[in-house]
Amino acid sequence: MNRQCSFIKPSGERCRGASTGQRGLCWMHDPANADQRRRVASRGGRGKANRESATLKEEIKSVIADVKAGDLDRNDAAVMIQGYRALKDFIALERQVRETDELAAEIEELRHEYGAA
Ligand SMILES: [Zn+2]
Repeated sequence: MNRQCSFIKPSGERCRGASTGQRGLCWMHDPANADQRRRVASRGGRGKANRESATLKEEIKSVIADVKAGDLDRNDAAVMIQGYRALKDFIALERQVRETDELAAEIEELRHEYGAA
């Protein structure tokens, strides 16, 4: 059972996706998946990562300034910088994961659009 999605695009062309649900619609056009599609499409995470790296930069700058001014022990500063480096790696990793997820969602969208399942 691998019927074609019955959705008609604004162009008048019928969707070439394979219907998955009982409604005779593909995953992209089945209203049951609307919530999931919205979640996939949400790109709210990118701004958060940018804010995080901006905060990190400011904190590292202030550590450097404190060391220069003699307000912070050099060993303490070295340990702190190490911690910041680990945080930076995590932010980069999270960003990579998010970008991979977005890419996967876009590929899935295109695949449905062109009906190449
Ligand atoms: Zn469809």
